[in-house]
Amino acid sequence: MRVASGVTRSKWRRLAGGHIAVAGGADPWGISCTRYWQGALMDATRWEQLVSGNECPFDVPRPDSNEHWDVVGSLKTSTLYLTKSQTYRGHCLLIFDVRHATRPDQLSMDEWTSFCADLYRAGGVISHIVKPDHINVAALGNVIPHLHWHIVPRYYDDPRWGAPIWMTNLEDMDQRRLCDAEHGKLLRELKVVLAS
Ligand SMILES: [Zn+2]
Repeated sequence: MRVASGVTRSKWRRLAGGHIAVAGGADPWGISCTRYWQGALMDATRWEQLVSGNECPFDVPRPDSNEHWDVVGSLKTSTLYLTKSQTYRGHCLLIFDVRHATRPDQLSMDEWTSFCADLYRAGGVISHIVKPDHINVAALGNVIPHLHWHIVPRYYDDPRWGAPIWMTNLEDMDQRRLCDAEHGKLLRELKVVLAS
């Protein structure tokens, strides 16, 4: 299996295991990300630890608020959080609650259908409140391999309009926060509509 251009998995593991670090990476979730080889940002050992569910920061119970999010509310199989970074006003995370799972094929069809129904509802709530020009949904799991959706409202005047929000290097991503009053108002509005 090839994990990067010209690099086999076994070679990548060998390089990672040999700690051939060339640059430090961002650490937005308290995860140690060290760049080893041609864009690889995560140590293989740390990745396998997270995939196994050991110390997964997205497993329940989760705090209602932390430096990354504030809870909006619970849905059938997931919980919706308003992210503290609001470069894209209304950016939320919808995290699968039932158990640790990293990929859709690890869910039953009923679980996946339910999780997608939660996404549909959450996206509708967010759109109703922030009235975006477009909306992105993404389930990447490259930093935290626990199933979650990013629901990202997009606007004509946002910093990455016409392109994905994701930059090659996390440290290059725009991280704007709302003032406390505005963040709190948005959070309250989302809670009211989600609960209705
Ligand atoms: Zn997990």
